[in-house]
Amino acid sequence: MKALNSLLAATETTIFTVMSALATAHDAINLGQGFPDTDGPEDVIAAAAAALMDQRNQYPPLAGVPELRAAVASANRRFYGLEVDPLREVVVTSGATEAITACLMALLDPGDEVVLIEPLYDTYLPVVRLLGAVARLVRLSPPDWALPRDELAAAFGPRTKAILLNSPMNPTGKVFSADELGVIAGLLQRHDAYAVCDEVYEHLVFDGYRHIPLMTLPGMRERVMRIGSAGKTFSLTGWKVGYVTAAAPIAGIVAKAHQNLTFTTPPNLQRAVALGLAKEESYFASLGADLAARRDRLAAGLMGLGMRVLATHGSYFLIADVSALGFPGDDTAFCRHITEQAGVAAIPVSAFYAGPPPKDYVRFAFCKRPEVLDAAVARLAAHFATAPGLPRGALTAAK
Ligand code: PMP
Ligand code: GLN
Repeated sequence: MKALNSLLAATETTIFTVMSALATAHDAINLGQGFPDTDGPEDVIAAAAAALMDQRNQYPPLAGVPELRAAVASANRRFYGLEVDPLREVVVTSGATEAITACLMALLDPGDEVVLIEPLYDTYLPVVRLLGAVARLVRLSPPDWALPRDELAAAFGPRTKAILLNSPMNPTGKVFSADELGVIAGLLQRHDAYAVCDEVYEHLVFDGYRHIPLMTLPGMRERVMRIGSAGKTFSLTGWKVGYVTAAAPIAGIVAKAHQNLTFTTPPNLQRAVALGLAKEESYFASLGADLAARRDRLAAGLMGLGMRVLATHGSYFLIADVSALGFPGDDTAFCRHITEQAGVAAIPVSAFYAGPPPKDYVRFAFCKRPEVLDAAVARLAAHFATAPGLPRGALTAAK
């Protein structure tokens, strides 16, 4: 039989699914895949349930129900001072995952170049390649993940169509500074390029850091596609409701991509998310404060085990350098090992690289109940305790 699509056939099952399955198989505490272990706001969930019962269960409008498009436009004004036309400049999608694909489809012709920043979220590269476009990778380095400005400038050229920017960033927790965004904006203008901004963690920022959408910088309103996710903003990751904000000429083409991907998104969920986006200020403020406390709790526990925890200012995630533990294997082996032997799952950071990855970094999700974080640390401590500084189980496993 003829071969199937070569790019997809060569794509591995996502690390998040692999590690969650391994966690289930070993009854491990799952600090791998990023999802909260408590439900989102009750009023939003109740609104989704009620919306199922009032006869609006047929196809909603292609670009999203009017209530949600209006709510996305209002949220843009409320949080960032952006004036957005809800009818012409908002497209609702089935999750940010679809939004990312739809935006890239809207932009790219085969042979176009896209600047991607490593470490990178796992759907970016396969989609760019499936569209026949060419990725130009720029790498950030630990521990501070600063933007290497010369390398970024060198990645731009006459064929550059776009940059795909993720801030706040998964897996590093980096929040791009105004200065860094200014550099990116300058390059976009110089090279007449666009930006797809994956801002799913826009409200999950800590330590007084502020998320600045690239779209708010001078000259960027017409060049940027800004993506949000109800999954992250309302701790309802299974809902898969995303939203794109873009200038009308771009949004119109994003809508055509959406028309060919899913066409519409469940109307009851859209209506509930509209209600959520109108929630009071304190709801959004509490998201970051609450997560920061969880981050500190997990970080303290991991540092107590001898890991070096890197600074994280946004998202669900922290990265730990586990080299001091002396584990005789790479990050992937380490994550498998702790899932199977210690009963705690995490994600190897090498999964976020296309090129040769670092080998000592592990991503832990801290969007879990405090007692679950404590239990995870206790399990790791018990596992590593028998040989301080050296994981005895690891050495046994490596024999
Ligand atoms: N982008 C990033 C950086 C993510 O971490 C995720 C994970 N959920 C997504 C996009 C996808 O969001 P959604 O669940 O809304 O599709
Ligand atoms: N965004 C989530 C993470 O980084 C995973 C989402 C998924 O499994 N596709 O953990």
